[in-house]
Amino acid sequence: MAKNKYKGFCIKCQYTCWPGEGTRLKVDGQWAVQHERCPDVEAIRKDREEAVKAGRYEQQLRAEVLADPAARAWLSNRKRFV
Ligand SMILES: [Zn+2]
Repeated sequence: MAKNKYKGFCIKCQYTCWPGEGTRLKVDGQWAVQHERCPDVEAIRKDREEAVKAGRYEQQLRAEVLADPAARAWLSNRKRFV
């Protein structure tokens, strides 16, 4: 089992799997990723619903990214190329 090098959507929970957060695997000849440990999707869904009601959905998504070290690492690597 190898860690994922690229960002993708987890085949189990559908949420973003940032580089190094999961395992890459081949399914029917296609690369797919799956978290090693999926996030608490119920809690995320609830937070997002509340954020939509409060009109701060973008801020919520931004906070989720900033709270995830793997996501922050991906962003800081990406900045080198833009
Ligand atoms: Zn997952």
